[in-house]
Amino acid sequence: MADNRVVQGRMQTPESLAELVEGESVMDAEPIEDADRECPECGGNVLEVGYMPSAMEFVTGYKCQDCDWSEVDRD
Ligand SMILES: [Zn+2]
Repeated sequence: MADNRVVQGRMQTPESLAELVEGESVMDAEPIEDADRECPECGGNVLEVGYMPSAMEFVTGYKCQDCDWSEVDRD
């Protein structure tokens, strides 16, 4: 799938990237996009993925492609 992106040397689908950010399995994930920001840890490219950790919640996850940094926007 064209949605897959390489993160820290490993190919990730939207679902697997969302699970990396969330730390557990997720219900659904949208296509991965490039976030308009740099990683605060290493200056690397940050990816953005919207996902549903549960049926009642939609959040936006951010993950650096080059290091362990990630963040979740739960607004
Ligand atoms: Zn980084």
